[in-house]
Amino acid sequence: MTAARPWRRYSGLSLLRAGFERQRGWPPAFIDATPQSSYDVVIVGGGGHGLATAYYLARHHGVRRICVLEKGWIGGGNTGRNTTVIRSNYFFPESAALYDLSLRLYEGLSAELNYNIMFSQRGVWMLGHSRHDEEILRRSANAMLLNGVDAEFYNDAETHRRIRGLHPNPSFPIRCGLLQPRGGVARHDAVAWAYARAASRLGVDIIQNCEVLGFEISDGRVRSVRTSRGDIRAPVVGLAAAGHSSNVAGLAGLSLPLTSYALQAFVSEPVKPVLDTVLITSATGVYLSQSDKGELVIGGGLDLFPSYAQRGSLPNMERSAAGVLELFPQFSRLRFLRQWAGICDVSHDSSPILSATEVEGLYVNCGWGTGGFKAIPAGGWLFSHLLATGRSEARARAFTLERFLTGAMIDEAGAAAIAH
Ligand SMILES: Cc1cc2nc3c(=O)[nH]c(=O)nc-3n(C[C@H](O)[C@H](O)[C@H](O)COP(=O)(O)OP(=O)(O)OC[C@H]3O[C@@H](n4cnc5c(N)ncnc54)[C@H](O)[C@@H]3O)c2cc1C
Repeated sequence: MTAARPWRRYSGLSLLRAGFERQRGWPPAFIDATPQSSYDVVIVGGGGHGLATAYYLARHHGVRRICVLEKGWIGGGNTGRNTTVIRSNYFFPESAALYDLSLRLYEGLSAELNYNIMFSQRGVWMLGHSRHDEEILRRSANAMLLNGVDAEFYNDAETHRRIRGLHPNPSFPIRCGLLQPRGGVARHDAVAWAYARAASRLGVDIIQNCEVLGFEISDGRVRSVRTSRGDIRAPVVGLAAAGHSSNVAGLAGLSLPLTSYALQAFVSEPVKPVLDTVLITSATGVYLSQSDKGELVIGGGLDLFPSYAQRGSLPNMERSAAGVLELFPQFSRLRFLRQWAGICDVSHDSSPILSATEVEGLYVNCGWGTGGFKAIPAGGWLFSHLLATGRSEARARAFTLERFLTGAMIDEAGAAAIAH
């Protein structure tokens, strides 16, 4: 591991200069490192959370000997499979503090990491279709405002005026809309690569194709990590292996309060700009946005049976397509281009876990369920604090494993269980 690695700032000027060199002078975005025999901190999982954790550990906590172990390629898990909705409109103050920290970090991330993550704050709408929906959304709006999160509540006419193209089926009339203007979408693999590049520059070893197969634990403390590329000694190990958190923690003899489900998404063939915001409707459990390429990005709920099959199921796909057509019948002639799924670890209260475990030196970042992309910067920020100090930062204190013993749950199923 070297402290200074070849790096070139991305800017208009450097692009122009590289043009004269026929774009040959660019160093790799990050070094594909070879594992060393020991590190100060080993992070398992090269998704957004693992990479962000490594970056903040090196940047803010001065830890230098860090590696990220990824069994496949970075961002190849849920980070590269999600529909990229970013928002902080949660109900409980603990959640709002966490997700709004994330949103604020996202707002400055392209500049901080010198990488365009294409964060587009086009607003996120929750649509209400009935009197009950309206009551719930009013309650959410009040909670958001009390939590210091931006929220705007609109009646039916104003919602229709602001969202172009809505032609809802009379069974799903639009009664109201709750907008978080600062919400939006970002480019998912850019987020992974931006953190990887910045962490690699600070000396973090990013090791791909390296699967964690077990842990050596003695006297209640983690000693080393057994991988497909040899053993690595480390006094501190952080697990950020979403989708497989239970399996990886199980290798250390831990049982986490998580259930894993497939969540799927789809895109349509690309079309001209038709939707300039993000919509979520609880009536049909569907959400959609339009990507920069022009595809409609559509998602629905979890497959409600535990599974590790990264396929998704046809009934859910049909339900999502039907849900979109209830709002936009004009999209009925669009064809699906792609469908995929990822595995989401859902905790018993649909809130994340950032915690020490009963094995000393072994920490977990997991349970983000269907909504952890929006939390990548905060997850990394808070988990790095925990790994560096052994203590939870104030905004992470409510999210330890202890709550499953004390019953101090943060039940965000209403805000988090709808896929987004
Ligand atoms: C279809 C879909 C849509 C979604 N939409 C949204 C959305 O719109 N907004 C939002 O906020 N969230 C969304 N999510 C959730 C979000 O994608 C995840 O919560 C988030 O990406 C989790 O990030 P992560 O870094 O923890 O996990 P991941 O990106 O999954 O990274 C974990 C990594 O661990 C690696 N790993 C696992 N086991 C091992 C091992 N034994 N050894 C080494 N490496 C291992 C995996 O290969 C993987 O790369 C969605 C998820 C899906 C599936």
